[in-house]
Amino acid sequence: MQQKPASLLTGLCFVIFGFIGQAEAQSMNRQTLNARQQAIVPIAAFTARGDLDKLKGALNEGLDAGMSINEIKEVLVQMYAYTGFPRSLNAINTLIAVLEERQAKGISDKTGEKPADFSDKNKYNKGRKTLETLSGRKETKLTGANAFAPAIDEFLKEHLFADIFGRGLLTHQERELATISALSALDGAEPQLNAHKTIGKNAGLTETQINELSKIVQGGQKSIYPRGNRAPAEWFSGVVWLNSLASPAETEGLYSIGQVTFEAGGRTHWHTHPIGQILLCTEGKGWYQERGKPARALQKGDVVVIPKEVEHWHGAAADSQFVHIAITNNKDGNAVTWLNPVTNEEYGRF
Ligand code: MN
Repeated sequence: MQQKPASLLTGLCFVIFGFIGQAEAQSMNRQTLNARQQAIVPIAAFTARGDLDKLKGALNEGLDAGMSINEIKEVLVQMYAYTGFPRSLNAINTLIAVLEERQAKGISDKTGEKPADFSDKNKYNKGRKTLETLSGRKETKLTGANAFAPAIDEFLKEHLFADIFGRGLLTHQERELATISALSALDGAEPQLNAHKTIGKNAGLTETQINELSKIVQGGQKSIYPRGNRAPAEWFSGVVWLNSLASPAETEGLYSIGQVTFEAGGRTHWHTHPIGQILLCTEGKGWYQERGKPARALQKGDVVVIPKEVEHWHGAAADSQFVHIAITNNKDGNAVTWLNPVTNEEYGRF
């Protein structure tokens, strides 16, 4: 009598372990990722990095590999938990753009099965009301990414504006302050940053306070190299820092390499280089201008090749720090000829 349940249990264990063993053996036999798995990897990775150009390619490959629109959408929605709403929302908007492009080319992608619905209407409405109070606007109809991927809209309202904002301890204004600060520190979150600046003002933050916040965030950025010493005021305007990385004494007198950090509004005077100069832009936003030509906007990753004897200046944007590495060639021991300062009129012209 007592043996029966035991043997039943043993039998059940056999079934379970036998099944797991088989599944494990199958996955061990597979040495490489299949097409569907290969599609998920770059979609998730480029969403996390916020590289929307490369994400476009990955989304196309996912759809071409036979993933449904709803399945890809589900990967992008899941990413909010790991990479935050800005990255997830940017990726969903990118998927919308990709689908429109494909439709225009006559490609019809399958919608696929619907996901399970675990929405909590009470919580949703609580979050919606909090958001309406924060933004000062009634929400009449979902648009954009929220309409296309209702799950992200539910998670925004239920998880963020009901669960998290409902916990107290911090005022809504303090929570917005934290949000705007995080978004200011994140590359590629400008649409969300602008939206939250508006919400922040609605929660009572002033323009001056928001500008102060931006300065603190930018000041906390970590450069690859230390900022070095203040640059001489006779050749630079505003607050500029120089760090010599390789001096002519170390390069047979041929060239020098240095990192230049310009605080917002900081810039060089007009100047020329006898054998030219290369700028590798590593942080923030800045400008490069040759005499008589329109200024070129610069950002992280840009390279500027400055020809010899061309009069020019470089520096930060008015509202952003800017860092570049400069490689400057020497001729007869000379690397630069300094000219007049870039006046406020010249700087404010573009
Ligand atoms: Mn220069």
